Amino acid sequence: MNNAFMDTYHRLPVTFSRGEGSWLYDINGKKYLDFGSGIAVNLLGHNYPPLVRAVTEQAAKYFHVCNYYQSDVSAAFAEKLVEACAPAGMKKVFLANSGAEANEGACKLARKYSLSKYGPGRHTIVTLTGSFHGRTITTLSATGQDRFHRDFGPFTEGFIHIQGGDIEALDRALDAKTTAGLLLEAVQGESGIVPQSQEFIAAAAKLCAQRDILLMFDEIQCGLGRTGTFLALEQYSDENGNPIKADIITLAKGLAGGIPAGAVLAGEKACDVFTIGDHGSTFGGNPIAAAAGLVVLKTINTPDFLEEIRRKGEMLTAALSAHPKVKAIRGKGFIIGFDIEANAWPLLEAALSRADITKNQCGLLLLSAGVNTIRLLPPFTLNDGEIEQGLSIISELLNQS
Ligand SMILES: *Cc1c(COP(=O)(O)O)cnc(C)c1O
Repeated sequence: MNNAFMDTYHRLPVTFSRGEGSWLYDINGKKYLDFGSGIAVNLLGHNYPPLVRAVTEQAAKYFHVCNYYQSDVSAAFAEKLVEACAPAGMKKVFLANSGAEANEGACKLARKYSLSKYGPGRHTIVTLTGSFHGRTITTLSATGQDRFHRDFGPFTEGFIHIQGGDIEALDRALDAKTTAGLLLEAVQGESGIVPQSQEFIAAAAKLCAQRDILLMFDEIQCGLGRTGTFLALEQYSDENGNPIKADIITLAKGLAGGIPAGAVLAGEKACDVFTIGDHGSTFGGNPIAAAAGLVVLKTINTPDFLEEIRRKGEMLTAALSAHPKVKAIRGKGFIIGFDIEANAWPLLEAALSRADITKNQCGLLLLSAGVNTIRLLPPFTLNDGEIEQGLSIISELLNQS
């Protein structure tokens, strides 16, 4: 292990040096099947030729111009991204570099919308228990998990948390006199893959619209094709059965297929709220990230590609549900969480240490979410054979656990 790093991560004892498709290779040449894609980042696997080509071609042209100027590739990416999110009501985008930064931008946007229209005092942002919105002081305030609310205070004021699914609590929390926005994940990632119910999302959409409170979806983990639709919110409808329209959507993680990128998108209400000087980011819209993002959007946002994610997700879910050691399973497409009796972490370690060159045996990269939940966020390029292979390893590990 490298002592130069601050001690912020519980790292497993493996050092990677190369990737190819759904596979990673460590410095000793051992092979690992990737069922985590670096936490929903490497959507198209490793060394995906069109992505590599786009990034290297852009690198040979220019890396960066500051936001004093315009960049052809950033502008093209912004346009395609807004287009992709238009069915959810999006009209404009602010490009950033990470999820926390995108959520910070969303909170600023919601507060300014409310302040400009109603004056001071209407700044509260409601979020859900079990949510995860980032690691900055403000996004920690937004994150509804107590274990994050230590050691770093004072935190940003004006955030309250309610239980997902509790429509009465939602109704009480969305006070039109004090509340600027509701921020939620349609499928919570970090707390164990927890989808919100159709009723709850429909109620949220209705109450937010009635009270002019901005409805903000954090699609950083569950968006970008994960659930088998481009955005996870597309899996829901309002009380009249119409598609959900959001006011703000945040994206990051897989947005540029492994290059840092984040985005705050806004619909009619908030898309013109920021004016010159209100917000900024040195690297936001970075041309290399934008070039990669264009490939991601073009590749994943087609009906056939998304349908394949749903089909392959069902393959995984059906097989896992049938295993006697799987206590519960949640999620859709390629965002799946399943609970086991044992602790998740030793299973992650066993999946990794299974890699053995002499036995011609590969390891499997799994993620956890909470103590007893194994989380799967495979690359979308995973093929049926690799799914079978991963499933048989999971089954073998569960039987030993
Ligand atoms: C990962 C994540 C974030 C934070 O993203 P960073 O890029 O790590 O800042 C925010 N929200 C959700 C839902 C996430 O999964």
